[in-house]
Amino acid sequence: MAFESLSDKLQNVFKSLRGKGRLSEADVKTALKEVKMALLEADVSFKVVKQFISAVQERAIGQDVQNSLTPGQMVIKIVNEELVKLMGSETTEIRLKPAGDMTIIMMAGLQGAGKTTTTAKIAGKLKAKGRKPLLVACDVYRPAAIKQLQINGEKQGVPVFSMGENHKPADIAKAAIAYAAKNDQNVVILDTAGRLHIDEDMMNELIEIKGTVEVHQTILVVDAMTGQDAVNVAGMFNDKIGIDGVIITKLDGDTRGGAALSIRAVTGKPVLYVGMGEKLSDLEQFYPDRMASRILGMGDILSLIEKAELQVDEEKAKELSQKLRKAEFDYNDFLDQMSQIKKMGGMASILGMMPGMGQMKDMDLDERAMDRVEAIILSMTSKERLNPDLMKNASRKQRVAKGAGVDIGEVNRIVKQFDQMKKMMKQLPGMMGGGKRHGGMF
Ligand code: GDP
Repeated sequence: MAFESLSDKLQNVFKSLRGKGRLSEADVKTALKEVKMALLEADVSFKVVKQFISAVQERAIGQDVQNSLTPGQMVIKIVNEELVKLMGSETTEIRLKPAGDMTIIMMAGLQGAGKTTTTAKIAGKLKAKGRKPLLVACDVYRPAAIKQLQINGEKQGVPVFSMGENHKPADIAKAAIAYAAKNDQNVVILDTAGRLHIDEDMMNELIEIKGTVEVHQTILVVDAMTGQDAVNVAGMFNDKIGIDGVIITKLDGDTRGGAALSIRAVTGKPVLYVGMGEKLSDLEQFYPDRMASRILGMGDILSLIEKAELQVDEEKAKELSQKLRKAEFDYNDFLDQMSQIKKMGGMASILGMMPGMGQMKDMDLDERAMDRVEAIILSMTSKERLNPDLMKNASRKQRVAKGAGVDIGEVNRIVKQFDQMKKMMKQLPGMMGGGKRHGGMF
């Protein structure tokens, strides 16, 4: 998960500020020095860190903080606001023409950045919005790239236009647009060829495409794991071909998060989306404010609620929350609950968004583990599922382990985890803000 260590470090800095009744200038300066170190360690660009710290310092040493009843909180609030500003303040969407007109999007990026995958992810998002995207294979150097786009297009239920490897990308783009016009497709997404490093040929090819067809949005895909390189690449692409926005991929695997924090400030271009996994559904809109709260360990309740809203079966959720309140939660509910969690992208991703739950996200509740849990529960009798206490019996555990083809230790663990989960679920309403339930789930 991105920002993990930055988040931990900042929370430690703030812990020391929080309790103080008054903050001297020296207190603030010491704290900000630590914030500075933490940001540099997260691979945020040096220039960006310097500007950030001086902006925070100027405000934090001002009158408002000195006179405030909770100066520590005020400093955190300022850091939060400046982080949001750093990431661009507002959420920016890919700009589309009205549905009656055709929008042409060009995807650019280095090889391996995740361009082809992201192109298909974007197509899925646009399709869900009622658009009719056409994916275009302009990477003529790697037959595998064309194949990959076709496979992904098929998964998304989106058509893919290809002319093989023997045409110029600009000509393919032109032909694709004519094809789209004839076939009633209103967003053309060009998947262009990347190279391992920035090179003239690649840039010229992109410039040629732009000179041949009218590109409305140029979107650059960069890999978060490359940290400052991603930021430099974004700067160079912007200088050479002009970009409208950036998508940062592999944020799920990047523990530092420097690219996400610096790109906007360095290039002046907004981050549109972030890639959070290899699956075609793993693309999230970039919300600077939510990202800042996540970094500061305030959790990302809004994203969580939105996920729940999107994917949780309302009726089932309501029923479940009633059961929880009455402490009737049983293994059947546990099964239901797991399938809801799977729909929401796994337990780890949910826990990471909850305030204070960051540390628990390594819990062994990934999808494969969930499949095993399912097998175990399905090996219980209906009586056992309804009456979880029965499962505390050793010979029943033995029987279930045999049925599910797992070790008895695993059954033990599930029975224990079930208990823990029951407890955790009971605590959730309070954590989600004054017991207010959303969609009944929490
Ligand atoms: P391209 O060369 O830029 O077209 O890159 P690909 O689309 O082929 O992606 C390269 C690799 O990165 C593939 O294995 C993708 O599955 C993986 N990938 C792409 N986006 C993400 C992401 O957001 N998270 C993770 N974990 N992997 C990603």
